[in-house]
Amino acid sequence: MKWIEKELNQLKEKNLYRSLRTLSSPQGKEITINGRRLINFSSNDYLGLAKEFCQECGKWGSGSGASRLVCGNFEIHEKLENKLAELKKTESALLFPSGYMANVGVISTLAGEGDVVFSDELNHASIIDGCRLSKAKVTVYPHKDVDTLEYLLSKERKNYRRSLIVTDSVFSMDGDVAPLDKLFKLKNEYDSILIVDDAHATGVVGWSSFELFSLTPDETTVIIGTCGKALGTLGAFVCGSTLLKEYLINKCRTFIYTTALPPSIVCQTLKNLKEVPERMKKLQSNIEFFRNLTGINSQSAIFPLIVKDEKSALILSHHLYENGFFVPAIRPPTVKKSRLRISITSEHTKEEMEQLIKAIKL
Ligand SMILES: *Cc1c(COP(=O)(O)O)cnc(C)c1O
Repeated sequence: MKWIEKELNQLKEKNLYRSLRTLSSPQGKEITINGRRLINFSSNDYLGLAKEFCQECGKWGSGSGASRLVCGNFEIHEKLENKLAELKKTESALLFPSGYMANVGVISTLAGEGDVVFSDELNHASIIDGCRLSKAKVTVYPHKDVDTLEYLLSKERKNYRRSLIVTDSVFSMDGDVAPLDKLFKLKNEYDSILIVDDAHATGVVGWSSFELFSLTPDETTVIIGTCGKALGTLGAFVCGSTLLKEYLINKCRTFIYTTALPPSIVCQTLKNLKEVPERMKKLQSNIEFFRNLTGINSQSAIFPLIVKDEKSALILSHHLYENGFFVPAIRPPTVKKSRLRISITSEHTKEEMEQLIKAIKL
């Protein structure tokens, strides 16, 4: 097993080694790491809901005991699915244990050999893995480049049975937004299914990224949302037609062969949904404040601060840590260009955002 040590040492030499940081506090705007209190500018808990846990949740116990298709399907799962479908303006929704599993499962269920998937180059790792698992032809298009995508569709679409266009709506490491209106049009013109990953959009830019473009989902649209980010808990949901839901229940391996989300968690997600509108307003006003403060033109809660290289990212992150801020360095292979990924939440005060910027400018 010497090769493991060798590979790890190579990572260290390239400043690409990763290690775990350990929290001794609950998740939130303030966290404790190694006995040090830090203002957290790194979580996806955009509305500060992750620390909530109501008494009613405890009534359900801690586990679901089985997969949904065996005996792990609770009324409360269906209640949450109906609510989420309503919020995303689709016919139905299906819960998954995580966003990773939703993406991997949906893409590999809807596409197979003889099909083609068009995927944005900056899509989330779970989309990439779903594409690989599907065995479909995967065509990666340059980031948000709809003209190149149209060219590729015109050239390749006709050679395949089914076609998917897959994109993050808010990109997870850059915070920018996909041109969903144009992708929606291309999907119709080229007889494709559009899959949109709303992980960083749900509860941030609205209930759904489609609101930004005044789009309404139709039967060839699939929107995937997650509960682990702004909604503060765990799990994911695939929103689309009732027919799609029925198909996934029958065919999707990451839905069928895994334990259902615990009803306690589902109960908390339902509770958190009620808190979203008010906190989202606060978040959006914080985002605007931070955008003006930094000049970083993000349309979401994610503000990338691109730096020279891996080492600079580590040094800056460490400097901020010493000054009481937690903003980890994001490096390859997660991104091409190393950066600090600053995420703003509804909980941050203007003073804290200003202090962070002061600390960054050394
Ligand atoms: C976080 C994330 C996922 C995965 O969701 P989990 O529920 O954390 O597994 C999928 N897609 C995107 C864009 C994400 O940022």
